[in-house]
Amino acid sequence: MAEKRDYYEVLGLSKGASEQEIKSAFRKKAKELHPDVNKDDPNAEEKFKEVQEAYSVLSDENKRKMYDQYGHAAGVGNGPSGGAGGFGGFGGFDGGGFDFGDIFDSFFGGSGSFGGFGDFGGRSSSNRSRRGSDILMQMDLTFEEAIYGATKKFDLDVVESCDECNGYGGFDKEECKTCHGKGTITTQQNTILGSFMSTTTCPDCRGLGHTFKKKCSACGGKGKVKNNKKITITIPEGINTGDRQRISGKGNPGTNGGENGDLYIEFNVEEHNYFVRNNDDIYLEVPLTITEAILGCKKEIPTLYGNVKINIDAGTNSGDKERIRGKGVDNKYRKHKGDMYLIYKVYTPKRLSREQKELLEKLNQTELDTDEIKKFNKFTKSNN
Ligand SMILES: [Zn+2]
Ligand SMILES: [Zn+2]
Repeated sequence: MAEKRDYYEVLGLSKGASEQEIKSAFRKKAKELHPDVNKDDPNAEEKFKEVQEAYSVLSDENKRKMYDQYGHAAGVGNGPSGGAGGFGGFGGFDGGGFDFGDIFDSFFGGSGSFGGFGDFGGRSSSNRSRRGSDILMQMDLTFEEAIYGATKKFDLDVVESCDECNGYGGFDKEECKTCHGKGTITTQQNTILGSFMSTTTCPDCRGLGHTFKKKCSACGGKGKVKNNKKITITIPEGINTGDRQRISGKGNPGTNGGENGDLYIEFNVEEHNYFVRNNDDIYLEVPLTITEAILGCKKEIPTLYGNVKINIDAGTNSGDKERIRGKGVDNKYRKHKGDMYLIYKVYTPKRLSREQKELLEKLNQTELDTDEIKKFNKFTKSNN
């Protein structure tokens, strides 16, 4: 199978194309490539579908954003990947550690129900109502917001069913005269391999099977209106990168009166300068002087929940680890408390005062060899 072409390339556009440019490029290409006017080209339908798909993504602000960021891997087109059926049990937060490709595939892949203002309401000839597809949005959180919880407010353009026409786009429904209510038209195609019948979506009713005597003026016949909504979400303590929150009904609009999909917000938590998070555990590197490491010491250590005093053993080495139970992330969502791990790192000074040098030289005349050093010296000799 041929590699999927870039959507901008399909429409002959550059990446920064405006909404208007996308619209007119699509109109031009759709006219030029419509299967009805290219009966001699056996690939006419494929080409036309490619244009439809490119337009359905680039004309939809959210899908375009996803596509710009992730390319075809975002799965925002109605490609050949599986249906978007398996959402049912997906509520609230879900665990981290997802493969991004998988998420986008399962979210958007092949849902067929292109909300995008219903211009091309899916490939199906069915005029049943369909639920809109889900939208996945990324949200950045600071390390602190994720640990201690936060309230976030943002504006979102939500495309909703038009109240005036209940999402149908018009009044006084009548059967489409072009397709006689079937939503599709069948044409005969002649190719060098012989002639065969080809079925395409009816261009007059866009697959719905009906038209309206009177167009709805509130939505211009689209059946959808765009409303700017103020959204407030409460983020519980302990959220981590990859966790998601669902906002019901704020996804893409359904078709034929179908309800909106859901909006999922996936969090991305920024790193902290000192604390390193691993699930609910927190790692902290603690720098020690050579004498602190040799003699041991008492040290004040920062934790997520205030400072604590810690005894550091005499003879501590770089890389030695100490666990402080219960001082990791207090994850309210998962009802789990992590631990904190201190990782010691001994810093050898590069410059010494004369007095320090004298003291260390005196120390160097004493027996400091550990078992490891003695063994290594033996090996050096035997290797000669
Ligand atoms: Zn029709
Ligand atoms: Zn309307």
